[in-house]
Amino acid sequence: MVAETGRAAIVREYGAPLEIVEYPLPEPEPGALVVAIEATTICGSDVHGWQGAYEGILPVELPLILGHEGAGRVVALGAGAELDSVGTPVAVGDRVVWASESCGHCWACTVARQTPLCPNRRLGMLTSAARPPHFLGMFAEYSYVFPRAGRLRVPDELPTELASVATCAGRTVVNALERAGRIDAQDRVVVQGTGPVGLFCVAMAAAHSPRQIIAIGAPDDRLEIARRWGATETISIDEYDAPARLEEVMRLTDGHGADVTFEASGGRGAIGEGLELAARTGRYVLIGATGAGSQEIEPHRIINKGLTVLGSFSGDIDSFHKAMRFMVANPGGIDWGEVLGRRYPLEGLTEALTAMREMRDIKPVIVPGAAG
Ligand SMILES: [Zn+2]
Ligand SMILES: [Zn+2]
Repeated sequence: MVAETGRAAIVREYGAPLEIVEYPLPEPEPGALVVAIEATTICGSDVHGWQGAYEGILPVELPLILGHEGAGRVVALGAGAELDSVGTPVAVGDRVVWASESCGHCWACTVARQTPLCPNRRLGMLTSAARPPHFLGMFAEYSYVFPRAGRLRVPDELPTELASVATCAGRTVVNALERAGRIDAQDRVVVQGTGPVGLFCVAMAAAHSPRQIIAIGAPDDRLEIARRWGATETISIDEYDAPARLEEVMRLTDGHGADVTFEASGGRGAIGEGLELAARTGRYVLIGATGAGSQEIEPHRIINKGLTVLGSFSGDIDSFHKAMRFMVANPGGIDWGEVLGRRYPLEGLTEALTAMREMRDIKPVIVPGAAG
C-alpha cells in the first residue's frame, strides 16, 4: 500500500460547499481493488446528487463521496482480482475503470439481469462514506472497487480523461442505444439536450448512418460540437420556444417527425415535447430526467401514434467496454476532448460543480493529485 490514508471531498449537507476529509485506506478484501484516482469527470447526476435531487426517490445516506465517472491506477489487489471482467490481466500500476457493485442475489440482478437496477447497489452516490471502506465515490484520491463490481483495464490507446468520460456519459448512451433498438438509414433521430450525454447520443447514433440527426439544445458552442459530432441539423432552445421547436422539427423532417428520440436534457417539459415531435410508431428513450419532479404529458400521443417509450438507466460493465471500444474505434473521427472542461484539484470541486450547474463548463475534470 502506498499510503495509509487518503483525502476525499464529501457532501455532508446538500448544496453546501464540499468538505475535504481524510479516511484510512482499506486493505482490499478478496476480489476487490484499491485504485488511485487519476481523473474524475463530473456528470450531471453529481450536480443533482449534491443538490439532494435523489433524496426520497433513492436510498441515499449522507455523507457521500460523489463522483462516479472516473479512472485510476490500481495500487492494491485483493486475492483473485488478477483479471478484469473480460479476462484481461490486471496488475498494480494498470489503469482501470469500474462499475458500482450490485448484490447478485435479487430479482434485478438474477432474473432481469439489469444489474444497474439492483436496489442493493453499493456506490458513492447513495452509500454513506462514514463506514469502511469509505472510498465509494471518485471525488477522492482513492477509490474502492468492490469484489462483485465489474472492472476493465483501460485500452492503451485511450487517454485517462477520455476513459473517464466513457464510464458514465459513454456507457449510459451505449445502453440507451441498445434500448432504442436498431437505427437504420431511413430513420430520423432527434436528440433533446446537448450536454455530454446528448452529444454521445449524437455521436453513437451517427455511427448507424441515420437519415437525419437533429440535436435540440444550447448554448451555441454545444450545438456546434453536436454538428461536428454528427448532427445534421441543430435547433437552439435559446432561439426557439417549444411550439417553434416542434414546428422546426416537422419542417426539417418534411412533416414526418422523429422515428427515434433520445431525451437527454432532463428539462422540465421535455418529455411532453418529445411525445409531440415523435413520428407514428416512433421510439422514445428517456435518459435525462433522473431527479424527482413531475412533468405534464399528453398520454394520448403515446397511444394514438403507437409510440414505444422506454427508460434507460446507467449501464452494466458490458456498456463500459463497448463505450471505450467505440471511443477508440472512433468511426466519426471525433475529438472527444471537446466535452472536457477545466481541470480542478479536489479542493476546487465545489467551484467545478457550480461551473457545471451554471453551464460554464461542459464537463469539468477533477484531478485529485493536482496542485492547488
Ligand atoms: Zn453519471
Ligand atoms: Zn441485486
